[in-house]
Amino acid sequence: MEFEKFKTMQFPRDVYVGHGVMPNIINVARQYLKSGSIVIVTGNTTYGIAGKEIESLLVDNGFDVHVFKTDRAVGENLQALEAFSSEVRAGMLVGAGGGSKIDLAKKASFDLSIPFISVPTTPSHDGIASPRASIVEDNCTLSKEASMPICIIADTVILSRAPYRYLRAGAADVISNLTAILDWKLAHRLKGEEFSSSAAAISEYAAKELLEKSHMVMEGVEESVWLVTKQILASGTAMAIAGSSRPASGSEHLIAHAIQRTGPGNSIHGEQCAIGSVISMFLHGGDWQALSDAYSKMGLSIRVRDYGITESTVIKSLSTAHSIRPERYTILGETDISKNACERTLEVTGII
Ligand SMILES: [Zn+2]
Repeated sequence: MEFEKFKTMQFPRDVYVGHGVMPNIINVARQYLKSGSIVIVTGNTTYGIAGKEIESLLVDNGFDVHVFKTDRAVGENLQALEAFSSEVRAGMLVGAGGGSKIDLAKKASFDLSIPFISVPTTPSHDGIASPRASIVEDNCTLSKEASMPICIIADTVILSRAPYRYLRAGAADVISNLTAILDWKLAHRLKGEEFSSSAAAISEYAAKELLEKSHMVMEGVEESVWLVTKQILASGTAMAIAGSSRPASGSEHLIAHAIQRTGPGNSIHGEQCAIGSVISMFLHGGDWQALSDAYSKMGLSIRVRDYGITESTVIKSLSTAHSIRPERYTILGETDISKNACERTLEVTGII
């Protein structure tokens, strides 16, 4: 048989990460803006944290800049952003904020075929460096095809301004790659799904690095932000190589999404992933205690009651999580898990 294998990989062209890297945005804009204006997609709070600074850097260097303040990544806001960008003839978008602003800019950039720069203000999840956007439609979060950022500017001075809770959540999102890889290997064995060992190796390296250094993920330390952000970017590279979120999203993410859908209390994505990864590691027969210990060193609780999530919510979430993305085969299998098995899993691991 002739050799017919091929694949496409999309990477950001420039990645600036570390202390005080923000002014590099001027050169990036000079290099990649072909014509038109620049739209900064930001929120009320994130404008103060990063948007304002980006605006003055660009305006002072002669760019035509517009600020589009928005909030959640919902269809309505996406349409408004796209209409605004067309009106001001945007040739480039800058997403400056936490998850939702970057998701909106990423999707609009894809729809309008113009480049976008990712400027994260929270190190809370791996979406800052991925080509997929989470957009909420009819109360359902959908992962949609979007643009890979042409450039990522992850300034640790800015990221340090986010509450510590976001940092440890970002670390948990990366540590939870460990179960995503076990699920991927399982799907490879049982379903013949294509597996990339290079993507898995990078993703696993990023997770292990943070698992081993979990005692160094501390509040008020810029170096902790550096440590976590680097591995978030490595996770993004693994996804880019695989051409999917597989290396960083398995059963633990299905559980996290199920909790988000059923009744998340006040938990955020990375915290839900931490809970999900302990459950998944237990189901895989792996060292779930090591994950639990690492989270506890960072001060991240995996007890659902600490987030106001009820026992029945987490039982229902675990039981039905497999149905969130049926094409993504994981340890959760293809049928609901019984209530008894869910209860036992959650009790043994200390989640309820
Ligand atoms: Zn995630």
